Amino acid sequence: MRPRQEADRIRATDARGVDFPVVGENFTRTCIGCRNRAAAFELIRFVSTGSGDDLRLQPDPSRRLPGRGAHLHPDPACFALAERRRAFGRALRLSGVPDTGPLAEHIRTVSVAVGNDR
Ligand SMILES: [Zn+2]
Repeated sequence: MRPRQEADRIRATDARGVDFPVVGENFTRTCIGCRNRAAAFELIRFVSTGSGDDLRLQPDPSRRLPGRGAHLHPDPACFALAERRRAFGRALRLSGVPDTGPLAEHIRTVSVAVGNDR
């Protein structure tokens, strides 16, 4: 866990590009893999793009992409859990089966970058 005062300093941006402070419990999201809540900045936001055969999950590190987003820890284990539960389609209200490749690749990259010590 990060120290509380660090969390209070960090600002985030919502879907409309409006900055707002991230303050403790007011800014938590649920990881769709492990179903635990965490501060939004500790989770990866992603959205779906395309449709039909071109439906894809698109990581949104800058949290600026429009549309319904869902969140995951930057942890391959959470990604695997979400995939097993078919949580992506439910969380994003998708009608088809999305290509999870781009999101999986992003999670692999950031989980290495931050040092996945679990
Ligand atoms: Zn998780």
